[in-house]
Amino acid sequence: DKPSYKWQRVLLKVSGEALAGDQSQNIDPKITMAIAREVASVTRLGIEVAIVVGGGNIFRGSSWAGSSGLDRSSADYIGMLATVMNAIFLQATMESIGIPTRVQTAFRMSEVAEPYIRRRAVRHLEKGRVVIFAAGTGNPFFTTDTAAALRCAEINAEVVLKATNVDGVYDDDPRYNPNARLHDTLTYHEVTSKDLSVMDMTAITLCQENNIPVVVFNLNKPGNISKAIKGERVGTLIGG
Ligand code: UDP
Repeated sequence: DKPSYKWQRVLLKVSGEALAGDQSQNIDPKITMAIAREVASVTRLGIEVAIVVGGGNIFRGSSWAGSSGLDRSSADYIGMLATVMNAIFLQATMESIGIPTRVQTAFRMSEVAEPYIRRRAVRHLEKGRVVIFAAGTGNPFFTTDTAAALRCAEINAEVVLKATNVDGVYDDDPRYNPNARLHDTLTYHEVTSKDLSVMDMTAITLCQENNIPVVVFNLNKPGNISKAIKGERVGTLIGG
């Protein structure tokens, strides 16, 4: 019998910023390797892991839109392409340590990755493969956090695990306020009404409407990714 963990199928969101670490390069291979190792340790336990990667380490549409005459949609498509680069990097790292991994893109790039096909993604997960969803939702004006919430709902994953560079959600900015306190738990309502910067509003309301809990945690602490996936207490849990 498989030991039972809190979650059977999780959606791990890795932002571009987290992938960059403190490197001046866009991607820190130590971080992708740490992610790969920790994900490997939990897939061995039978927990199914899907990943949505961000692209902010390479290109963020909103900060480019307007400059040099770039319209928002074009800027966002460049941002979505950036997530594909991260996804392929992460896939290569995972496969280098023997984790079978598939990348599925929200718009077709068939020479590079599979197109997103929900049933196929679920089948990969059931076979123990990791699935990385790239190109966000495929639509401009959205974020990869929203893609994480959307894919989570679509594949019936039980939780969005948002890996960041901070320990969780604080009541104030810990960089400026040394007395800022980390929240253990929050309700969706607290997040939206206090405008806490956890996820954008579209992403958090999508989670709320579908009763998807969100865990915000620090991926730089060794062991945290596997703890979060196994459902151990880490970071801030948003729900109810
Ligand atoms: N993006 C988009 N639609 C999506 C997801 C992402 O247009 O559904 C674009 C958008 O320009 C965004 C960029 O891709 O700035 C990178 O994604 P995001 O900023 O969410 O990455 P992260 O903050 O997680 O690194």
